[in-house]
Amino acid sequence: MHLMRKYVVMGVQGSGKGTQATLLCKEYDLVHINVGDIFRWHVQNHTKLGAQVRRTMATGELIGDDQVESVVKERLHQHDWNYGFVIDGFPRNGRQAEFFLESFDIDGVIHLDLPDEEVHRRVLNRRLCSRCGMDYNLIADRPEVEGKCDVCGGELVTRADDTPEALSARLREYHTKTKPVLDIFRRKEYVVSVDARPDVDTVQHDIRQKLGL
Ligand SMILES: [Zn+2]
Repeated sequence: MHLMRKYVVMGVQGSGKGTQATLLCKEYDLVHINVGDIFRWHVQNHTKLGAQVRRTMATGELIGDDQVESVVKERLHQHDWNYGFVIDGFPRNGRQAEFFLESFDIDGVIHLDLPDEEVHRRVLNRRLCSRCGMDYNLIADRPEVEGKCDVCGGELVTRADDTPEALSARLREYHTKTKPVLDIFRRKEYVVSVDARPDVDTVQHDIRQKLGL
């Protein structure tokens, strides 16, 4: 029997969660399970679940715990992850965390820790090309000509929901929901907290070291 590695990655928007999960999966042959992507896939492919999700979202409500749990369960039961997985975007609240621990065993929770000031700095410096959709970051990924897309010359704009007020509200909600999840995982001693402020390679190195890889 070979070694199986099953992880959860948690971190606020702008913490580099997706990038770090992808790097870890590539190195150890793990499957990156992004729960948000699974829902988007169902919506785009007009499945029965996709239709339910559309209806829920049209009323402005959040997708229910039952729906999220059944999607995660179904995805993990596909067993295409021979060497393990990194799950991203789940669990989002205390109830989902309890469900997860009852249904599956995990080897670690990677918590990418980023102070709110740094989230503000990163997120509020994001720009998007209004023509081709290319992402820019005024800190690390500056365009060659200010305000213009390197690829198509289109105008760079800010996302409508990337305002300081909207971001503060999202951060408050994130902390309120995430704290109970981390508390539940900490009781089982699963959590490794990694400082998400350094560059991508340093963060990845710290993750592997703390997981004993
Ligand atoms: Zn462009």
